Amino acid sequence: MARRRQIYEGKAKILYEGPEPGTLIQYFKDDATAFNAQKRGTINGKGVLNNRISEHVFTLLGNIGVPTHFIRRLNMREQLIRQVEIVPIEVIVRNVAAGTLSKRLGIEEGTQLPRTLIEYCYKDDALGDPLVAEEHIACFNWCSQDELHDIQDMAIRINDFMSGMFAAVGIRLIDFKLEFGRLWDGDYSRIILADEISPDGCRLWDMTTNEKLDKDRFRRDLGGEVEAYQEVARRLGLLPEGGDNAVLDLETHRKKKGS
Ligand code: C5P
Repeated sequence: MARRRQIYEGKAKILYEGPEPGTLIQYFKDDATAFNAQKRGTINGKGVLNNRISEHVFTLLGNIGVPTHFIRRLNMREQLIRQVEIVPIEVIVRNVAAGTLSKRLGIEEGTQLPRTLIEYCYKDDALGDPLVAEEHIACFNWCSQDELHDIQDMAIRINDFMSGMFAAVGIRLIDFKLEFGRLWDGDYSRIILADEISPDGCRLWDMTTNEKLDKDRFRRDLGGEVEAYQEVARRLGLLPEGGDNAVLDLETHRKKKGS
């Protein structure tokens, strides 16, 4: 049997050639890196959880009209996606000060920002993904003005939607990273959401305890990474639960409800 062709291997994911032209298979690894891969480790089962969480978020975003690369989940660790030309910019959306923003500007972590802040980093591992301004994006033509407007509009819509989605399950969306790509159709292209949305690229704090439910547990050696990712998946209703609320057996459920 022919081995499928690997297109790219990143820190947390591998991309393989898809079954049809214009498609790829995105495989989620358990590998975790931080601080531009200076710190490396494994979070057991992370790939499975991120695949499921990202599927959920991308599907909901698709339902509200945000175009994404997601087609369908194939199995525990893989999803079928549309092939795009990645825009070499990481889009960081912030609602609350944390991480590099806190460090750079001396703002205490957890300080609510007066408005949503969008930052851009140039995607280049060798340079450590440096922070750049809109002027750099225009100057070096990493994307056009029209494309950047589409990216900004989508980032704000995604933030509004995700803030509500997480708030509904007792999670505060502190900040997150997005990546976008160009989907080509002949000579024309449009911008769609790419990559993944998972606790690897979001800061998620429990609303009452401020407990971190994201990759900061790994970055800061807090422990309990697996449990944190599981908790996010559980709250989003993505893990089968025991107990009274579980609808694992419909027959029993109907009897219980008396219908
Ligand atoms: O580290 P920093 O505070 O700049 O990160 C802001 C947000 O972007 C965090 O949620 C972090 O997980 C995410 N991020 C990412 N990949 C990067 C840089 C940041 O997912 N390369």
